[in-house]
Amino acid sequence: MLQYLIILLDDKSVSYCHYELPSDVSREESLMPLDTLRAGIVFAMKENLNIQFVYPEQALSAEYAEVIESIDHTKIKPEAQAKEADVLVLAEWKKQIPDDVEGATCIIRASRKELQENLEQVKDLLGKVMRLNVVLTDIEAFKDEDVAGYQSLLEALSDLLIDQFKIGRMVQLNLLTDRLLLTQMNNCGAGDTTLSLAPNGKFYLCPAFYYDDPEQDVGNLKDGLNIKNRQLMRLDHAPICRHCDAYQCKRCIWMNCRLTLDANTPSHQQCVVAHVGRNASRNLLKKMAEQGIHMSDTHEIKEINYLDPFNNYKKWK
Ligand code: SF4
Repeated sequence: MLQYLIILLDDKSVSYCHYELPSDVSREESLMPLDTLRAGIVFAMKENLNIQFVYPEQALSAEYAEVIESIDHTKIKPEAQAKEADVLVLAEWKKQIPDDVEGATCIIRASRKELQENLEQVKDLLGKVMRLNVVLTDIEAFKDEDVAGYQSLLEALSDLLIDQFKIGRMVQLNLLTDRLLLTQMNNCGAGDTTLSLAPNGKFYLCPAFYYDDPEQDVGNLKDGLNIKNRQLMRLDHAPICRHCDAYQCKRCIWMNCRLTLDANTPSHQQCVVAHVGRNASRNLLKKMAEQGIHMSDTHEIKEINYLDPFNNYKKWK
C-alpha cells in the first residue's frame, strides 16, 4: 500500500540516493510549476500519503514556500538550502563539514574508496550528527575480490561508532546500526509503499527512473496511476529477497532493472554488499557486548555461511 509521495521540486533537486543527476538537467524551466505542485499535494491528501519534498540548490520563492507549508511534510535539502532541513544531503563533506549539522540527519553519497580515504571526516560527522546515512555509489562495480576490503572498511567505521557510544552518543550509521534494530525487511519500497512525482507532473517508481528516462512514467496527475504488474514490486513476490534476512538492504529495484533487467531479481553485487553489512552489524553487536555498551531494542543476528542468498537456495522451503 502506498504511504509516501516524494515530490521533486525541480529537475535539479539534490540526489539523495544511488542515482546521479544527468548532465543535461540544466534546462532553464526545470522548476515544478506551482499548479503541478498544488495538484501533487491534493493527490497526496486524497491518497493519505506522507510527502517528502526534495529541494534544489537554488532558493524557492515565497509563493512556493507558502504552498509547501500548506501540508505536513519532510524536507530533503542540499547543503546550500540547509535551513529547516529534516534531512540534509552533504555534497562537500570531504572538504568541509557545516557547523549546523549538530544533531541532524545527514546523507553522504560516497564510493568505498572515498569513505576509506576520508575516515577522519566521517569521524567528525559521527561526532556531530544524530544519524548518518551513507549511500554507496559504487555497488554496481562491486566484485567478489572486494569483500575483504569492504569488511575492513566497515570494521573501521564500527570502531568509530564504538568511540561515540563510549562517550554516551548513540549515533546511528545506516550501514551498521540499522540491522541491529530490525526484525523484518525495511526496504526502499519504491513502487510499493513509495511513489515519486516529477516536475513534469508524471509519476515514477522512484526519482532514478525519471532521471534515466522520463518516458518510464507510471501515470500522471491528470489520468492517475498506472503501475503495471504492481505485485512484482512487493517483497512477497520477490523470489530471492523473501528468503533473506539482510533486513537493512534497500532492495533497490532501479539497480535490479539495470543489472538483472528485472525489478524483482537482485544483482549478486547488491546482495553481497548487503550481507557484508549484515555481518559487520553482527560484529558490532559483539564488540558492544564485550565493552558493556547497551543499545535499546537490538536483536541477535545469527551467523550464516553465505553472502548471496541465492547460493543458499537449496535450503529454502
Ligand atoms: S541482500 Fe539481496 S536478497 Fe537480500 S534483500 Fe537485499 S537484494 Fe534482496
